[in-house]
Amino acid sequence: MIIRTKGKSKNIESHIVGKVTWDISNENKEFIFLTNNFDFDLVQNSKFTAVITTEKNLIFDTNQKLVYNVPTLGHLNENDIISIGTDGNINTLYRVNSFQNSILTTERCNSNCLMCSQPPKDRDDVSLLFDVNKKLISLIPKDCFEIGISGGEPTLMGDKFFDLLEHIKNELPETEVHVLTNGRTFAWNSLAEKLGYINNPRLMLGIPVYSDYYQIHDHIVQAENAFYQTILGIHNLARYNQRIEIRVVLHKLSIPRLTRLAKYIYKNLPFVEHVAFMGLEYIGYTPHNINQLWIDPFDYQMELNDAVEFLSSQSINVSIYNTPLCVLPENLWRFARKSISDWKNDYLPECANCLKLNECGGLFTWNLKKHSEHIKPY
Ligand code: SF4
Repeated sequence: MIIRTKGKSKNIESHIVGKVTWDISNENKEFIFLTNNFDFDLVQNSKFTAVITTEKNLIFDTNQKLVYNVPTLGHLNENDIISIGTDGNINTLYRVNSFQNSILTTERCNSNCLMCSQPPKDRDDVSLLFDVNKKLISLIPKDCFEIGISGGEPTLMGDKFFDLLEHIKNELPETEVHVLTNGRTFAWNSLAEKLGYINNPRLMLGIPVYSDYYQIHDHIVQAENAFYQTILGIHNLARYNQRIEIRVVLHKLSIPRLTRLAKYIYKNLPFVEHVAFMGLEYIGYTPHNINQLWIDPFDYQMELNDAVEFLSSQSINVSIYNTPLCVLPENLWRFARKSISDWKNDYLPECANCLKLNECGGLFTWNLKKHSEHIKPY
């Protein structure tokens, strides 16, 4: 599925964020008009914020803010929200027909995980993304069920992180907000306290803990003292009644102590609301570190079973993400979720004949290149 495209821009001097429409008679002129049939007179006289067209050549001059020569617009639905860059880049920020919309806050990170799916970029993108996201949040439908906040590490936005969450609470009070953070920043109590002041009962923080042993966690995230900072951060957040989810990525480095980690979570973090065990994504840094990380999911069934059943028996809410049903023992199927966002979700050709196709979450598109050798249709 396409989520970004590019054309040639004209008269666009700063980032534009807006809802799209295919309807030239749309009364709301804050919309961005999309067309495959460029009509110069209609477009020139319209008052839309901008126009995007697949038309290849512009033979007329125009004052209209315009992106032309865009390969396709078919992926955009009425009321989707996009951003247009001065260079003609068109990013889909919010899809009305999806339950899995996410806001990118920064590509900077203070960790450098061996299996990072979106390796950090050291460039100052905070102010630009903050401005784009503030506008985006104001445009998101008020009945939006859930929105994700991701990075990079969102807390590296500093004060803007809290401003953004405050803005979400005001604009989208009914929306569940799921923030992905490594939690290290909250080792500073004042920052956890600040989050507590926002007091959004719909806010949850998804924080990774990869081992009960600090050296293994620190190695996986490639950051000294990360384990202690994360655990302290989680405790500080709990002090201010923040809702927490622990995320554990399953690979060769986390599997050997998985049961111990489950026991560590129960003993030291019993207040967490949810623990998610997540299959490895074959993208970003993972292909480069594959020898350190790869273990066939079929071969860690026993460890995963022990960890999941232990936490569940202690009444902790547990899920398994990113893992096909055919590599899980049947008693774990009740924990398996269809967790992969639709635009990056795929299946192998043999899945077409599988009786469990509708219940199975399948694979990441990029995991079609690297997947369990035990995938077998029911
Ligand atoms: S064969 Fe495909 S659809 Fe069936 S359980 Fe395995 S991954 Fe899922």
